[in-house]
Amino acid sequence: MTAPDGLRAVDVLTVVSVTGPTPTVRRVVLTGTAEAVAAAGPTVNLLVPRVGDPAPRWPQVARDGRIVWPAGAHGVALRSYTARRQDPVRGEVEVDFVLHGDGPAAAWAAAAAPGAVLAVGGSGDLGVRPAAALLLAGDETALPAISRILAEASPAATGLALVEVAGPEEEQPLAAPPGVTVRWLHRGSTPPGESALLADAVAALDPPAGGDVFAWVGAESAAVRTIRADLRSRWGLGRAQHHAIGYWRRGRAMAPAG
Ligand SMILES: Cc1cc2nc3c(=O)[nH]c(=O)nc-3n(C[C@H](O)[C@H](O)[C@H](O)COP(=O)(O)OP(=O)(O)OC[C@H]3O[C@@H](n4cnc5c(N)ncnc54)[C@H](O)[C@@H]3O)c2cc1C
Repeated sequence: MTAPDGLRAVDVLTVVSVTGPTPTVRRVVLTGTAEAVAAAGPTVNLLVPRVGDPAPRWPQVARDGRIVWPAGAHGVALRSYTARRQDPVRGEVEVDFVLHGDGPAAAWAAAAAPGAVLAVGGSGDLGVRPAAALLLAGDETALPAISRILAEASPAATGLALVEVAGPEEEQPLAAPPGVTVRWLHRGSTPPGESALLADAVAALDPPAGGDVFAWVGAESAAVRTIRADLRSRWGLGRAQHHAIGYWRRGRAMAPAG
C-alpha cells in the first residue's frame, strides 16, 4: 500500500526451502503474495539483511522506484539477482546464489534456512531480444539468466551458449532449443574472475552469417568489457544487438551494506 508521502513498503519474501544443486550454488525457494512473486524478476534487486537479523529495518520504495533508506545503520544490502523461476500461482520464486565468500548476499545464502526473510527492492528484464542467431556467454552468476533465456528462446533459434564454471560438478541441466549448442568451459583451480576462458572462447568465434544476431553477456566486469569490445568491433554489433553487463566486480563489493 502507498502512503500519503508516496512511499510504499517493500515486498518481504520468506524462505521455504534451501537446496544445493551444485557444490557452490544455494538454491533458495522463497514465498510471497502472487503479486510480489510476479514482480520479483526476471532480474531482481534483493534487499539482503544481516545473517540472523530477526527484524530487519527495511527501506521503502518511492513512486519512481527509488529506494528510500531508513536513517542510521540498518545492515540491509542491495544486490542484483535473477529469479530462475517465478510461479505466482504457487506463490514461489527461486533464486540461485553462488557462494563465493563473505559478501552480504553470499553470506546470507550460505546461512539461509526456512523462515529467513529478504525483500524485493525492484526488478528489471534480462535485456535479451529475439533473434535468429544467439550468442550467450556467462559465468555461474549468469547461469540462472542463461537458463531462462534458453527456455524462453524461439524453438527455431540457432547459436551457442558459453558458460564458464569451476568444473563439471558445477554444470546444470539446461533446456535449449535444438539449434543452440551449450558449451561448458572449466576454469579448474583458477579463481573466478581471473580466467580468460570466456573472452578467449568468444574471440575464437566467427560472426554468424546474416544480420539477425543477438549477443547476451553476463560475467565478471573485466571479462564483459573485453567481450563487449570484441563483439562491437570484430562482429560489428550495434547497441540493439547486444546486452553485455558486469554481474560482479573482482575485489569490489557491488555496493556498501548500510
Ligand atoms: C542483473 C544481475 C543479475 C545477477 N544474478 C545473479 C544470480 O542469479 N546469482 C548469483 O549468484 N549472482 C548473480 N549476480 C551477481 C551478484 O549480484 C554479485 O555476485 C554480487 O556481488 C553478490 O553480492 P555479495 O553481497 O555476495 O558480494 P559483494 O559484497 O558484492 O562482494 C564481496 C566480494 O565478493 C566478490 N564477489 C562477488 N561475486 C563474486 C563471485 N560470483 N565470485 C567470486 N567473487 C565474487 C567481490 O569481488 C568482492 O570482493 C547478478 C548480478 C547482476 C548485475
